[in-house]
Amino acid sequence: PQYVFEFAEGNKDLKDLLGGKGANLAEMTNLGLPVPPGFTITTEACRHYLEHGSVPAGLDAEIDQKLAALEERMGKRLGQADDPLLVSVRSGAKFSMPGMMETVLNIGLNDESVKGLAAQAGNDRFAWDSYRRLVQMFGKTVLGIEGELFEDAIDETKSRKGVTSDLDLDADDLKAIVETFKSIVHEATGTEFPTDPREQMRLAIKAVFDSWNAPRAVLYRRQERIPTDLGTAVNVCSMVFGNLGMDSGTGVAFTRDPASGQQGVYGDYLQNAQGEDVVAGIRNTVPLADLERVDAKCYAELLAIMETLETHYRDLCDIEFTIERGKLWMLQTRVGKRTAAAAFRIANQLVDQGLITLDEAVGRVTGDQLAQLMFPRFDHAADRDRLGRGMNASPGAAVGRAVFDSYTAIKWSRSGESVILCRRETNPDDLEGMIAAEGILTSRGGKTSHAAVVARGMGKTCVCGAEELDVDTKNRRLVAPGGRIIEEGDVISIDGTSGEVFLGEVPVVASPVVRYFDGEIDPASDQADDLVRAVHRFMQYADAARRMNVRANADTPEDAARARRMGAQGIGLCRTEHMFLGDRRSLVERLILADTDKEREESLAALLPMQREDFVGIFAAMDGLPVTVRLLDPPLHEFLPDITELSVRVAVAEARGEKHEGDLRLLQAVHRLHEQNPMLGLRGVRLGLVVPGLFTMQVRAIAQAAAERIRAGGRPRPEIMIPLVGTVQELEIIRDESVRVLREVGEESGFDLDYPVGTMIELPRAALTAGQIAESAEFFSFGTNDLTQTVWGFSRDDVEASFFSNYLEKGVFGVSPFESLDVDGVGRLIRIAVEEGRAARPGIKLGVCGEHGGDPASVRFFHQAGLDYVSCSPFRVPVARLEAGRAAG
Ligand code: ADP
Ligand code: MG
Ligand code: MG
Repeated sequence: PQYVFEFAEGNKDLKDLLGGKGANLAEMTNLGLPVPPGFTITTEACRHYLEHGSVPAGLDAEIDQKLAALEERMGKRLGQADDPLLVSVRSGAKFSMPGMMETVLNIGLNDESVKGLAAQAGNDRFAWDSYRRLVQMFGKTVLGIEGELFEDAIDETKSRKGVTSDLDLDADDLKAIVETFKSIVHEATGTEFPTDPREQMRLAIKAVFDSWNAPRAVLYRRQERIPTDLGTAVNVCSMVFGNLGMDSGTGVAFTRDPASGQQGVYGDYLQNAQGEDVVAGIRNTVPLADLERVDAKCYAELLAIMETLETHYRDLCDIEFTIERGKLWMLQTRVGKRTAAAAFRIANQLVDQGLITLDEAVGRVTGDQLAQLMFPRFDHAADRDRLGRGMNASPGAAVGRAVFDSYTAIKWSRSGESVILCRRETNPDDLEGMIAAEGILTSRGGKTSHAAVVARGMGKTCVCGAEELDVDTKNRRLVAPGGRIIEEGDVISIDGTSGEVFLGEVPVVASPVVRYFDGEIDPASDQADDLVRAVHRFMQYADAARRMNVRANADTPEDAARARRMGAQGIGLCRTEHMFLGDRRSLVERLILADTDKEREESLAALLPMQREDFVGIFAAMDGLPVTVRLLDPPLHEFLPDITELSVRVAVAEARGEKHEGDLRLLQAVHRLHEQNPMLGLRGVRLGLVVPGLFTMQVRAIAQAAAERIRAGGRPRPEIMIPLVGTVQELEIIRDESVRVLREVGEESGFDLDYPVGTMIELPRAALTAGQIAESAEFFSFGTNDLTQTVWGFSRDDVEASFFSNYLEKGVFGVSPFESLDVDGVGRLIRIAVEEGRAARPGIKLGVCGEHGGDPASVRFFHQAGLDYVSCSPFRVPVARLEAGRAAG
């Protein structure tokens, strides 16, 4: 195979072979844009090297040949003493990857050619600046020497001279620095800095290959599920120089604002600089628009090129460029990253411009981005006093008093205060404090830290790793840049979407996108901005395209109504457990403690009308749409008093010689019902089988509520769902009872109440015997929360707080299986159940009601698995609608 391609031989679709950077350099070359000539060594060569430990036979010869052609074209040889050709060696995989080797510039310089370069340019300083950069970058990235050693040496020279800017160092200073750098290399490696240009290039190429397996790159791939065997390409590109004086420079640009999506000129430029200086923050850059003053000709050319690129790529592009003595050079482009709002705006603008179709536009915005647009946000118009910034770990806007330990967080929140829990980092002991807090702020740790993972799991706002804010838990205070001090109790505001932290209370406003979904903003009116109009347009398209229905999980009339406004086509999960709490708790207690049938029947009879009222309200809110009611699911002891409290009460009463018969009986029952693993104990259908009359009471309430709604002119469509079934026998018993009750109430009321009875599939055994279960179930709803718990053997309430952050850091999985469905394991069981369920009962209705129903990646899987609907929290309904549309498109 051919291992080396000149830029002109490639194109943008060859990312697999040439990497992203190489493919786009090729594309720009062929568009006739000014790209410094060069060539790309393929990922295939890299794969060979990684597999065999040596480069493929013939690679060196091929490189020599391409290099010779390059030298011919440039009229000088690599490192030629009197007029050297210099090149950069640049890594570039298909996906850009943090932790991989970056770029080595100015390859070809040595003690001889540096003089030639100086003479040719008529600029000694420039030549020695380039040389010191080579030794520094080569030393750091190829030879693996601690970068600080070099930086310290520069700082030392500067402070000896009493100057602060690199530009104040003259040729002699830089010459001395090169000598120092070479001795650093010698000391660290025991060998001299390689002076042979071709050897420099060979070593740099090998280092790029090796960097594919740098620990951070390996970890990143594991987390992002990027295949481990793709390898990276290497780009060898002739140098152009932005450090030749004030008529030279280097910059970055975007074809639109990646933050807002607005059209305009965005970027930064730095005069007399090379490479990474722009982003490294060594000197202050100027806004790109100022380039017009500095060099009007290059500025105009750059704008024209940006337009060419955007029209060609039909998307926002980001660009790296360099100006060498008034001549513009393009060094990189790619389709650029952007915020959620920018993604919607840009896609919509491109449709308007006729560059992409609506279908493509919807393909380019994600449910995750839509979810981000729906979080409440700080009012940007308000005065804001910014203290600092960290990582945007979990979106949202939270305001509260700063507290520095969990105990205080809990105490203050109990007394009605909103608090922000500030910690250096969190650990499982902080869990209760995190639950109590409005938001979480940490000064250490990244997006997979404990704080970040747990906060995202709880849907709680979190800013993590805010290193510029020193959380001093000992003195209960936060020290911000400039020595500003925030004491315990001071109000702060944290923005989990941007990572910013503010002093005081920043006012919060509902997102306009949510107000649109809620029907408060008419997309056709002036109230709607371009973002709302884009969302509206894409939602309409997605709704028309999708095959799956979207329902909501809701168990109050208010939630049901909201879900409906958000576009829900029914309720996929109406939990009944909250209907047994509050004032009804004592009735439930009596039911559980009942010794005789009569006692039990009395409590059930008391509960019945209350349940009926609950359902009437929900059926009314969802009139005409299906409502799947799940019969009681949680372990019974959840309805009983706390065992410790009760024991104390009984002991105290006993010691005082008081009467305590009731409490004693209760305590005995609590003991009897106490379970080591309640999630695997007496719950779900097991309750229905063990507590006589419980489930039939619920079914009766459903049926009577339906009858009442029909009488009032409504169209109730209840569906009865039996939870936690493991075997068809369990289901048969409850189903027969349910059907009997439906008939009875039907006869009493004179209506046909022939409602479907189905089951949840949330145990592996149920999935594996779905064919049998389907004989007795009119529908399945996959309870993916429990299914994930039981497939993995994870107790969700325990593991997420205790060791998931550790698992994520080690790359065991890239995202928690409770957040995004584990397609390989849990997903496989779902596929089995879908197939066998449909085989046994063609037309069986299949849905999902776990939290995964609102997770974009999972929705995509459910579409592929052939489910009829997903059900998720009301707030997530639009996300699921969009993703279901994208999946079908
Ligand atoms: P990254 O992938 O980190 O962006 P690049 O390979 O793009 O690394 O190199 C970083 C920067 O180095 C470029 O933006 C550019 O400024 C500079 N650079 C790379 N190659 C050359 C070159 N041949 N001539 C001048 N500058 C270059
Ligand atoms: Mg770059
Ligand atoms: Mg469940």
